[in-house]
Amino acid sequence: MKKIFILVSLTLFLSIHTYAQNDNPKATEVWEPEPKVITPGTTSQDPPSDAVILFNGKDLSNWVDTKQDPAKWKVENNAMTVEKGTGNIQTKQAFGSCQLHVEWRSPAEVMGSSQDRGNSGIFLMGRYEVQVLDSYNNRTYSNGQAGSIYKQYIPLVNACRPPGEWQTYDIIFTSPKFGADSNVVSPARLTVFQNGVLIQNNVELKGPTVYIGQPFYKKHNDKESLVLQDHNCLVSYRNIWIREL
Ligand code: MG
Repeated sequence: MKKIFILVSLTLFLSIHTYAQNDNPKATEVWEPEPKVITPGTTSQDPPSDAVILFNGKDLSNWVDTKQDPAKWKVENNAMTVEKGTGNIQTKQAFGSCQLHVEWRSPAEVMGSSQDRGNSGIFLMGRYEVQVLDSYNNRTYSNGQAGSIYKQYIPLVNACRPPGEWQTYDIIFTSPKFGADSNVVSPARLTVFQNGVLIQNNVELKGPTVYIGQPFYKKHNDKESLVLQDHNCLVSYRNIWIREL
């Protein structure tokens, strides 16, 4: 009787423990190694002639919110800034594989720490996030810092500029391909340069980037909107252009 009681207790304990592990966002945080900090050179890049201009500093005419209503982020001084609480914004046009140029800036006034400092994100096809975060002297889990493929790939180095300065991401994205049975036959791939420095080298995504649990693919359209994240931080964007591949 006593043996059975111990066995039942142990099984119960293990299943609760497993459940807690699966349900806990901390379970997928990776803190080591911490990417080496480097200082980037100065860069800026005007769009080439064949680029689709997604934001030219003047208005949000190419963007809507998640309810397909006009985007409500603030536009001033050639930049758009997250209007907290108005939600993510997305492009009206949908894209698949692409070359994407984005400039972003976290607030000069430093507020919060770890994931609560200058957090936003660039979601290719609305689901594959290149993390935007103020990772200048701001330790967080390595697979969630600026330039990480969120909770999948740690950036090769930390090429962040100080808060309040403009930074560039140049992203090469290969969309996943799905077979007739909806299974992924060719996973999504990402290459990312931050401020001209290679930080992700053709990495193979395990699925959409998720906060909790392990990622897995689910079939979606060949083209989907590009999404920018409202994470309750006053992150700004400018000079956003894209080339379809
Ligand atoms: Mg984010």
